[in-house]
This record gives sequence, C-alpha cells and structure tokens, in this order.
Amino acid sequence: MIMAGHEILKFVCYPISKAPDAAGNHLINWVAERHMPPTYQWRREDYNRTAKLDEFLPWFESWQFGWLDVPGLIKNCPHAYEYPLVDRDPVSQWTFGRVTLMGDAAHPMYPIGSNGASQAILDARAITREILAHGPTHAALVAYEAERRPATTSLVLLNRKNGPEQVMQLVEERAPGGYDVVTDVLSQQELEDIAANYKRVAGFQVEALNAKPAIVSADARRMGT
Ligand SMILES: Cc1cc2nc3c(=O)[nH]c(=O)nc-3n(C[C@H](O)[C@H](O)[C@H](O)COP(=O)(O)OP(=O)(O)OC[C@H]3O[C@@H](n4cnc5c(N)ncnc54)[C@H](O)[C@@H]3O)c2cc1C
Repeated sequence: MIMAGHEILKFVCYPISKAPDAAGNHLINWVAERHMPPTYQWRREDYNRTAKLDEFLPWFESWQFGWLDVPGLIKNCPHAYEYPLVDRDPVSQWTFGRVTLMGDAAHPMYPIGSNGASQAILDARAITREILAHGPTHAALVAYEAERRPATTSLVLLNRKNGPEQVMQLVEERAPGGYDVVTDVLSQQELEDIAANYKRVAGFQVEALNAKPAIVSADARRMGT
C-alpha cells in the first residue's frame, strides 16, 4: 500500500487481487483525495456518483514516480466514484428515553485511520454487554453512551487533524521542496509517537487490546442466546 502527498492532495493505492490476471495485471484500488476550501459549493453528499476525471486528474498529472504512474492509473481505470469526505460535530447526547444512536448515526467521522466501521462494531459490542447486564432499559443505553460517546468524540476530533496521516502533512510543511531520507525531516521518535497516540485513542494498541477482557464475555454470550 502506498500513500503519497499531504493534507491538501493525497493519493492512496494498493492491489486487491490475490494474483495477476493472464495479462499480468493486478486489480488496484486507488483513492485520489483533494481538500476543498470551506466555501466550495459542493454537490449534494452522495457516495455513488461517477467521478468527473477532469475535476481531479489535472492535480495528479505530474505524479510520475517511476515506480508508480498515478495519472496512468487514473486514466486507465474503468470506474471511478466520487466520495465527498464529510463529518459532523460531536453531539452532547445520544440517548433519549429508550432510543439511542450508534455507528455513523452517532459519530460520523472522516474515514481516516480505517475507523468508522470498526467503531460501529465496538458500539455494538458495548451495547450488547449493557443490555445483557441491565436488560433492554434506559439504564443500559445510558451506560453504553457513557463509555462510547467520549471515546468516539476524541476520534472524530483527531481524524479532523488527519489522524495518523498527520505525519505526511508535517513532512510537507518541513520540506516542501522534498527530502532524501524522511527521518532527516521527521524523527523516528516523532513518527512513532504520532502512530502510538492514534492507536491509544482508537484502542488499537496490540498488547493493551489483547490484555483486555472480552467486551461481551463468553458466559454473557451464552446467557444472551
Ligand atoms: C470512502 C470511505 C472509506 C471508508 N473506509 C473505512 C475503512 O477503511 N475502515 C472502516 O472501519 N470504516 C471505513 N469507512 C466508514 C464506514 O463505511 C462507516 O463508518 C460504516 O459503514 C458505518 O456503519 P453504520 O452501520 O453505522 O452505517 P451505514 O453503513 O451507513 O448503514 C446504515 C444503513 O441504514 C440504511 N438506512 C438509512 N435510512 C434508512 C431507513 N429510513 N430505513 C431503513 N434503512 C435505512 C442505509 O441504507 C444503510 O444501509 C469508510 C467510509 C467511506 C465513505
């Protein structure tokens, strides 16, 4: 997987086929990302609209790296879709009586750090545990919200600062003309600290995660079925 660029202009791509086809080609997924000013009059939010190549290809026309031909990849792609990246300000309440919010309805976030769906799954686990403990009651929903709303609020806000990808923006700011070795611009310690902080907020630290008890214990799962 490669990620190139910075906050304003970014290209991500990776192969998704296990093996090349008869012609030796791999199926590639790519994302060309461009930041628009807040005043930009965007089309209505929609995740299934065919992209207009002339609106974003010119920004990547010079991205020929030798080992990767970005404009070639874009031009040869049979299907490209436009996904406006939008989130919402965290809200102060999810639970109203016996109704609560979860997943994107509760905490829509920029899809940075591969997190939106992961957090929706954690919501589902937490709400399951609380309903098993308190029954399908208001108290169960309040307990669920007390854990999950602060956790996801932090992530929504961190993703606005580019989450773990802020390292790309820092390098761009410090070396707009380029660099030879990335650690001349951003120390190994800074790289590790930024990654570690995001993992901590997102709950992705491998050792800490593995040491935690299951959110819904096997006993509780048996009781629930
Ligand atoms: C470009 C992009 C890349 C992403 N990459 C990642 C990633 O790498 N990793 C990750 O974890 N997350 C990623 N996400 C985020 C992830 O897709 C969402 O966080 C996740 O889908 C949220 O799940 P959800 O069930 O809360 O909502 P949704 O998936 O939006 O599900 C809601 C469902 O409700 C249905 N619905 C709406 N209204 C009604 C109605 N009135 N009646 C009945 N049904 C209704 C909708 O049709 C939909 O099927 C990405 C998102 C985008 C846009």
